[in-house]
Amino acid sequence: MSVQEYRLFIGGEHCPPVGGEWFDSVNPYTGKVWARIPRGGAEDVDRAVSAAHAALSGEWGRMTATARGKLMRRLGDLVAANAERLAEIEVRDNGKLYAEMVGQTRYHPEWWYYYGGLADKIQGEVVPVDKPDMFTFTTAGPVGVVAALTAWNSPLLFVAWKCAAAIAAGCTVVIKPSEYASASTLEFAGLTREAGFPDGVFNVVTGFGADVGASLVSHPKVAKVSFTGSDATGRTVYQAAAGGLKKVSLELGGKSPNIVFEDADLDAAVAGAISGIFAATGQTCIAGSRLLVQNSIRDEFVARLVERARKARIGDPMDAAVNIGPVTTTPQFEKILNYIDIARGEGARCVLGGNRATGAGLDQANFVEPTIFVDVTNDMRIAQEEVFGPVLSVIGFEDEDEAVAIGNDIVYGLAAGVWTRDIARGLRMTKRLRAGMVWVNTYRAVSYMMPFGGTKNSGIGRESGMAAIQEFLETKSVWISTSDEPPADPFTLR
Ligand code: NAD
Repeated sequence: MSVQEYRLFIGGEHCPPVGGEWFDSVNPYTGKVWARIPRGGAEDVDRAVSAAHAALSGEWGRMTATARGKLMRRLGDLVAANAERLAEIEVRDNGKLYAEMVGQTRYHPEWWYYYGGLADKIQGEVVPVDKPDMFTFTTAGPVGVVAALTAWNSPLLFVAWKCAAAIAAGCTVVIKPSEYASASTLEFAGLTREAGFPDGVFNVVTGFGADVGASLVSHPKVAKVSFTGSDATGRTVYQAAAGGLKKVSLELGGKSPNIVFEDADLDAAVAGAISGIFAATGQTCIAGSRLLVQNSIRDEFVARLVERARKARIGDPMDAAVNIGPVTTTPQFEKILNYIDIARGEGARCVLGGNRATGAGLDQANFVEPTIFVDVTNDMRIAQEEVFGPVLSVIGFEDEDEAVAIGNDIVYGLAAGVWTRDIARGLRMTKRLRAGMVWVNTYRAVSYMMPFGGTKNSGIGRESGMAAIQEFLETKSVWISTSDEPPADPFTLR
């Protein structure tokens, strides 16, 4: 296959970067360069933000919300028609399973349909204000230009999560995808033009975080920053955005507890534990990377889990029979192996995996065996820090109170899972666990209708669902005097 050279997307045009440089995108499975991605810089960011800013007062700014919604639904249809092609591109870029990526690209249009429908239901209200001779109402308008920065693990899903709500609100966007997985976002940009969006509504500037990302976040014409990535980068982005007093939402990492009680349906819980840590090769923010198992069933449960996980097939992510693909990047691969060493050094006992996976069809890529550690205590680094790989820490607990205490004893608060047949306990746990999302007898379920996001170091704000649109709206209060008389005293507050 020939190496494909991409262009930036600015003001409705595919264009080369001002600096005239490109960088390679390597297929994590083959280890070969498959695409060349434009290396944008501050000048490209400025061109993109200026185009997005101009669009706010151009055709896009004058368009009715109903017309916006129609364009959004058309875009959803185009993504649906291209779902398989886009998924293949994502697999080439990030090495995740085709089955996972095509599930995401086929589901992606729903965000455009849902928020496209919401666009003309954004309403203000007439307020029966406590002042005589005054008519008051509120309106809600777009915050302005949105900088959308995304991670490499689910690039187009994050585009949908951020941009559909932003566009429904009437904002314009400049997207900076991860340098490890930029191609699908550039392909998506072409679909926005095909759908008929005015120039400047969507812009994509690819490149590295330290230059494109940093210039974008600090650009004076960017009103809102919507970021998905690690908590370390999230802190940097938050600080940079604070310099310009920008609105910020952050979708960051996690170390989510997946809690199995002795009365759980153990077959379902084993599947849930697998889904929590080995799906997506563990490269998912909502990974259930701390498996808390009630002591009375711990040994039996771990034995069943090991038996099931051992059967997982490692290999080519395009192969429908494969369960675990390669790790996306070499730094990430080294980080995972380093955490395995740390866990061993801390006294955790490895009962499955613990090594690089090698063999026919594996040696050219960075594969890690599904790995399970037992005898983990919650104070160990392997229990406290995000690995972002197929490495599970199993921690025992005696009763509900201890499960809650361990579950919450962490700086993160993205997700949690609870496995029990006792619905009262399930409900109590949803209340007691400090996490943005709690799943009972299921794991890793997401929907365009359900808010997604975390508490504590896992982030600020929510994506998806009705409330997410508020992240992109600014309320305006309008006061109209209905009095013919001048104010009695113009020197006092009305
Ligand atoms: P990352 O933080 O390294 O990068 C995220 C994005 O930020 C990339 O586009 C990167 O280029 C950019 N960036 C880097 N430095 C920057 C800077 N100084 N200024 C502006 N932008 C900069 O994260 P990653 O490795 O791509 O993704 C993995 C992380 O993302 C994990 O921690 C994972 O948990 C998290 N994540 C969170 C969610 C969520 O919704 N909560 C979803 C997926 C991934």
